[in-house]
Amino acid sequence: MLRLDQHATGHHFLQIPGPSPVPDRILRAMSLPTIDHRGPEFGALGRRVLSGIREVFQTQHPVVIYPASGTGAWEAALVNTCSPGDPVLMFETGHFASLWQKMAARLGLETEVLSYQGADDQLPAAPGWRRGVQADLIEARLKQDTAHRIRAVCVVHNETSTGVTSDIAAVRRAIDAAGHPALLMVDSISGLASAEYRHDAWGVDVTVSGSQKGLMLPPGISFNALSPKALEASKTARLPKAFWAWDEIVAMNADGYWPYTPSTNLLYGLAEALDMLREEGLANVFARHQRWAAGVRAAVNAWGLPIQCADPAVYSPVLTGVITPPGVDADALRKLIHQRFDLSLGTGLGKLKGRMFRMGHLGDSNDLTLLAMVAGVEMGLKLAGIAIAGSGVHAAMDHFAAHPGAALTPLA
Ligand SMILES: *Cc1c(COP(=O)(O)O)cnc(C)c1O
Repeated sequence: MLRLDQHATGHHFLQIPGPSPVPDRILRAMSLPTIDHRGPEFGALGRRVLSGIREVFQTQHPVVIYPASGTGAWEAALVNTCSPGDPVLMFETGHFASLWQKMAARLGLETEVLSYQGADDQLPAAPGWRRGVQADLIEARLKQDTAHRIRAVCVVHNETSTGVTSDIAAVRRAIDAAGHPALLMVDSISGLASAEYRHDAWGVDVTVSGSQKGLMLPPGISFNALSPKALEASKTARLPKAFWAWDEIVAMNADGYWPYTPSTNLLYGLAEALDMLREEGLANVFARHQRWAAGVRAAVNAWGLPIQCADPAVYSPVLTGVITPPGVDADALRKLIHQRFDLSLGTGLGKLKGRMFRMGHLGDSNDLTLLAMVAGVEMGLKLAGIAIAGSGVHAAMDHFAAHPGAALTPLA
């Protein structure tokens, strides 16, 4: 980034897993003049984004858009569906799952946290933070709850602190197998529009998301995708809510308006992002991120460093966490890479602080920008005196060359 005493040339490499690099097309769309949020043009914009965003969540039901970060949308999901003291069952996949649990506790819910059952020899300080949700544990716990007190099951789809993408359909099946009425609430703040996600088909009641990750927008708006069951639950839920209350927002959204001033220019950006996603097709968007992730993992494997996610079945297409050798401070490495190469990498969060860094492969990227990220990391590893087994840059180049993505220009 630009420092006061120095002008960096070229683009900064924003390779953290959100905020992600914003395409110029979206920045230009956002530069249009702000309009009257009660006027006729606004209603057309509102209707366009409210219907377009449903395609991305793959839902037929209402999606609420808040002028807030993802954390606000977490709160909205809980206060609209729960009453004081309600038990909620959560699964600790990493830092973001833990933060959502802390919020639920602060709101007066009785939180119960399940965590990974199994051994982890790499990072004893953060057991379970290398794996996805174990749906069988959820099923077993719900079966014990014969009085059906548990109000909701809350899980993170793409755990951005670790680079693990859990199987949400399996969690739905677990709830159904237990014959339990709990709501299924999912944080897909960093998964949406990067990793495959199906709100309706997977039977999710509330999906929480945000603008600054897969949707390629700046931070500032966030989402609750709803199910009819969630809307029904909101009519009797007794946690205090006003700003976050779905009822007034959903009612006014019918004409494309909000009860308060929405983030007009971010909604211009959203309209553009929805056009871009529709032009490419969601299946291609998901395949593109999978391909990028495989190329970056090829680099990490060539370096001989462990990937934070220990289960290849749940590797994240959005980001890759890299564990640094014992005794190497991952934040010192990140700092060095930032100073020397103007490249920002994600820090190790919570229990992973200093033990790993995260490489984002989302947003306005392509093979060559990702190779630049890999090169920046590789140079940093060498400068820090960290032994690497081989060249990650070569491995990633080989991967991208051998696995062509969708053609960018028609071949003559
Ligand atoms: C980014 C993120 C959050 C927090 O969102 P904010 O917009 O920073 O409030 C929560 N959960 C996950 C999985 C995230 O990636």
